[in-house]
Amino acid sequence: MASDSLLAMQLRYSYRAYPDASQRRALARAFGCARVVWNDCLRDRREAHAAGLPYVKSADLSRLRITQAKRTEERAWLAEVSAVVLQQSLRDLDAGYKNFFDSLKGKRRGPKVAPPRYKSKKDTRQSIRLTTNAFSVRDDGTVFVAKAGGIKVKWSRPLPAAPTSLTVTQDSCGRYFLSFVVDTEPDILPALDTEVGIDLGLSTFAVLSDGTRIHSPKFLRRAEKKLKRLQRELSRKAKGSKNRAKARIKVARQHARVADRRRDWHHKASTQIIRDNQAVYVEDLAVSGLVRTRLAKSVHDAGWSAFVGMLAYKAVKHGRYFGKIGRFEPTSQVCSTCGVKDGPKPLHVREWTCRECGTVHDRDDNAAQNTLAAGRADRLNASRSAGKTGTKVPAQRGEAGTHRDGHTTVAGTPDLQAGGDVKPGIPTSAGTLRAFSDGSHGPGAEYSS
Ligand SMILES: [Zn+2]
Repeated sequence: MASDSLLAMQLRYSYRAYPDASQRRALARAFGCARVVWNDCLRDRREAHAAGLPYVKSADLSRLRITQAKRTEERAWLAEVSAVVLQQSLRDLDAGYKNFFDSLKGKRRGPKVAPPRYKSKKDTRQSIRLTTNAFSVRDDGTVFVAKAGGIKVKWSRPLPAAPTSLTVTQDSCGRYFLSFVVDTEPDILPALDTEVGIDLGLSTFAVLSDGTRIHSPKFLRRAEKKLKRLQRELSRKAKGSKNRAKARIKVARQHARVADRRRDWHHKASTQIIRDNQAVYVEDLAVSGLVRTRLAKSVHDAGWSAFVGMLAYKAVKHGRYFGKIGRFEPTSQVCSTCGVKDGPKPLHVREWTCRECGTVHDRDDNAAQNTLAAGRADRLNASRSAGKTGTKVPAQRGEAGTHRDGHTTVAGTPDLQAGGDVKPGIPTSAGTLRAFSDGSHGPGAEYSS
């Protein structure tokens, strides 16, 4: 398709970094200053709002809270870090507000976005963002970061092109990551005529409408079990004790290990599904009944939305169709054979017989079939109305510091919030898709600003 080249993708490539002692100090300063600018600007806007005054403009905040603040005694140290870092912090705050306002006005589908919150020194994840005038990849393999110098990086895979922005993060285990945004061209795979509906579940990770069952690998389940055990141990330790502090670090380390392994495995599984199918349909997690159960939350954490995010961007990258069933579909309650709604079923009911047509259903297979049918119907409707409405490309969740994530490591899992389907080959109003890169490592923060 001629229009393929019009669809630029932005992929994120993350690498572990190893700053030396003086660089760590410089980064700590930058994290701190970015946080102070964020909080100062946020306070101004909140106070203006409380006083019934108009929304404080970015340009005013930039002048007052960055340029002029540097000249005051109490904020003089802002001058010690790169101005780019401070400006980006303000821009991220703006993005957080924009997402919030869009969500309020209903311009943004998916779960409601909370207004930006104050950042704390104690947040489990610290970060700064830089544009190309404040960093560069050097020939010696280090990455030059303004005011910090050349930082050593473990290049687990090469960057496919020159990056357009860099996020430096430190996670709760004290690990550093450099995450680059790179503009890439799609890599369109030969077309197939296969379509698949996916049902994400607890007992089986995913059941596909073609009968494929995807189980979480043993090593991952073992690591998750160990994490749970460590979390229980932590909860038993006395508050404020040394042992509690030690246990907390253990939990954070294991959490990071689980997150890394899960991400790797999600990449493998999602790549396979996208390679094998021309169209992929998934139930929107925001409306899925399962996700609302506490059990699901404790077991799978952010795993599902990360996985669905990978499917979405890989579909765009490889010229496949990705459809999310946006409205509430009781996929586990409707008979996929005759369409009769059989009523809610508790999670332990794995098999049931339709009272209308007598078909014996496996719960998950039936749900996957329903997802496929609903996805096909949506796609048909979308193609009928194409041209009038255009197609939206999902943006990744606007992490941009809008969430103070309670989790220890993976702050900001990719989650599709813009809703709608992804159809490559059609230039969209959104223009670009931001997503994780294949096999990316690291904390996986996403910014959709
Ligand atoms: Zn039936």
